[in-house]
Amino acid sequence: MPDLTLSIRFLRGVGEKRAQAFARLGIFTVEDLLFFFPRRYEDRRTLTPLGDLRPDTFSAVVAEVASLSARPAGYRSGPFSISLIDGIQTVRAVWFNNPRLELQLRPGMRLALYGRVEYRGGLQLTNPEFEVLEGDEVETASVGRIVPVYPLAAPLSQRWTRRLVGTVLASYGGGLTDFLPDSLRRRHGMKTLPDAVRELHCPEDRNSWLRARNRLAFDELFLLQIGLLLRRRTYAASGYAVPIRPGRKFQALMGPGLPFVPTGAQRRAVAEILGDMNSKTPMNRLLQGDVGSGKTFVASAAILAAADSGVQSVFMAPTEILAQQHYFNLKGMLRSQGIETVLLTGGQRAAERRSVEEAIRGGSAQVVVGTHAVFGDEVSFARLGLVIVDEQHRFGVLQKNSLMAKASAPHVLVMTATPIPRTLVLSIYGDLEVSVLGELPPGRTPIRTVRMSAGMEKTLLDLVREHIRRGRQVYWVCPLIEDEEQGEPRAVVSRFGRLSSVLPEARIAMLHGRLSMGEKENIMRGFSEGKTDLLVATVVIEVGLDVPNATVMIVEDAGRFGLAQLHQLRGRVGRGRAEGVCILLEGRETSPDGRARIETMLRTSSGFDLAEEDLKQRGPGEVCGIRQHGVTDFRVADLVRDRKLLSLARDEARRLLETDPWLESAPLLKEELDKRLGRALKLAGTA
Ligand code: ADP
Ligand code: MG
Repeated sequence: MPDLTLSIRFLRGVGEKRAQAFARLGIFTVEDLLFFFPRRYEDRRTLTPLGDLRPDTFSAVVAEVASLSARPAGYRSGPFSISLIDGIQTVRAVWFNNPRLELQLRPGMRLALYGRVEYRGGLQLTNPEFEVLEGDEVETASVGRIVPVYPLAAPLSQRWTRRLVGTVLASYGGGLTDFLPDSLRRRHGMKTLPDAVRELHCPEDRNSWLRARNRLAFDELFLLQIGLLLRRRTYAASGYAVPIRPGRKFQALMGPGLPFVPTGAQRRAVAEILGDMNSKTPMNRLLQGDVGSGKTFVASAAILAAADSGVQSVFMAPTEILAQQHYFNLKGMLRSQGIETVLLTGGQRAAERRSVEEAIRGGSAQVVVGTHAVFGDEVSFARLGLVIVDEQHRFGVLQKNSLMAKASAPHVLVMTATPIPRTLVLSIYGDLEVSVLGELPPGRTPIRTVRMSAGMEKTLLDLVREHIRRGRQVYWVCPLIEDEEQGEPRAVVSRFGRLSSVLPEARIAMLHGRLSMGEKENIMRGFSEGKTDLLVATVVIEVGLDVPNATVMIVEDAGRFGLAQLHQLRGRVGRGRAEGVCILLEGRETSPDGRARIETMLRTSSGFDLAEEDLKQRGPGEVCGIRQHGVTDFRVADLVRDRKLLSLARDEARRLLETDPWLESAPLLKEELDKRLGRALKLAGTA
């Protein structure tokens, strides 16, 4: 049996650098790699003869290298072109910034190429991916089939990763054991696990891909449903909550001294929450409100009431940056009432963490703001009474429960900007009340959304200068930290360099996930305090950040992002009275799907409408990709699209647990459950 726990370091071609890049994607073992699914696919089944190429398409061709152009003397970079021939037709292929090409290519070689066709005084392929063919081979990784596109960052390239996954599938794919009971699998005509995994990497056709994807989505939903049922079984008699009532501290800060008048929706939500918490039955409430609707205010009201009642609150944020922001704001607000607020994140130094943990254990820390680190076993509370989870869609469904295990039965408030239909809410969270912030605070000017082609740098820079001159601030989001092998700079590091030289008057900083926690903190604080004019960042700034003075959001290569992400990014501006502008840059390589998403963003401003639209656009699609899901940590399943599968999974989970409450007949399933959800289940006191 091949060993799936083998470290990828032992695979041929995976050196230190690539292993590190994989580690950043959460891939350490062969098994991780097998479950690292493509972000999307490109249909390259049809090979186009050179004579049939049309401008503004993406095409796959097989042709011979007729000649190489010399680069200008002394240049190692700059465009490099070759002439391709098939039969009598010739077409050019051009690459930018790829100094190694002349070492790789020779006249007479046969190449498989895929890329954008353009008309530039003649037809050409621009920056195509290519592969050198040996002999008559056309069975290659890159053309003649549906090709996976993985969510990668440098130094990992698509072509190389495709080959690696291909060889790993061949030698290790058979080692995947199918944990679904055979009878269940057959009853629904599902593919086996190894087949499904293989198909997701190398789809044969749409139908077969869909069956494979459904099998894997079912797995996730089924395991989650079993987990929820098991949890409910032991949770049923979990005990009483401490009733929470607002008192002196609440009155002091929620009264006339507020910096703004709460909206009607905010008042209602606060009243509903206070109503729930004033009881021995723990609150279990979801607060839904579009980006910018003012959820934090509602949370702080609940926290104040908890402090009045002498219990600790924990406020969970999905990212370190967001946790820091909440921490500073809450600390500033609560200090006047003598309430001690602490921050707990994974990036803290050990000594600092220990002292924070001590304060939490001892009870002197009344409000804890933190990231996933709060889930850790070493964190225990003196008297935890309220759990608030911000941007719930970023946390796993069951993870929240590991926190709840830290108190007998705390009140729970989860907050999200994702509009999830109520029926779905119930099936993933169990019994849950819902409050909705259906209006934005008054005085907001709608955000203007603009599309620009990447070539319009001058116009863009003028606009940036103008906003900065007026004392406003600008976000500039790039899809990558460092550039992939070739092409225009689209990455934080190169963009930062370029902007620093063309905007010498501006104070520019960059922010991305590879910086240390201290660095991130300083940069974010500088931006919040208005000491930085322009922040070049990756999507680390996607959720939650609140800097009302920022008025411009520029999203580079916007077609690469999903609708939910674009909506969150756009929500970083337009938070104050001044008008916000969101500029979506469209590159030459933007896919048709990406363009459609950009157009939707131009038309639609409400998160709810976008979610609906998202569903429609992803419905039929060409060959659908797999999205990192918004609401849960599923890799494949999509709660909205997979409603039917979800109810099937519920039925099957119930059926199985009714006949076999301890899963004795399905040891492999039990193992898998433990592997995927074990920690969360164990902490919740179930396993
Ligand atoms: P989100 O719901 O996206 O988490 P926030 O809580 O970050 O939104 O609030 C967005 C901005 O709106 C913040 O700057 C906050 O101070 C401000 N805000 C919240 N409520 C009101 C209100 N009632 N009137 C005016 N501004 C408000
Ligand atoms: Mg928020």
